[in-house]
Amino acid sequence: MDRFAQFLRRQLDIDMELLRRAREDAETGTTHRCLITPIRGFRECELKTRLLAAHHRCGTGEGPCDELGESYPPEDERGCPTRALLGLPYADRPGYARRWRP
Ligand SMILES: [Zn+2]
Repeated sequence: MDRFAQFLRRQLDIDMELLRRAREDAETGTTHRCLITPIRGFRECELKTRLLAAHHRCGTGEGPCDELGESYPPEDERGCPTRALLGLPYADRPGYARRWRP
């Protein structure tokens, strides 16, 4: 499970860095078209970070999804359906394992 969480945190770090660059480009007048505004991107990263933190213990027997009976078995790195869905936007990034698809 740690490997999946580490993968997700790394992707969020990459997104944050890309957004910082986009914001710098916007502030300096450099023109690179971005489909989402940096502000919205930062909000989405915050949302994903908070969800990942809230579901941090799922699959260990101590997470909210464990209490609801919705977590995955301990050998499943994803932990729970929420965590698995958080990984879906990064399915095309290096390091994403096919077995992590929700
Ligand atoms: Zn969960």
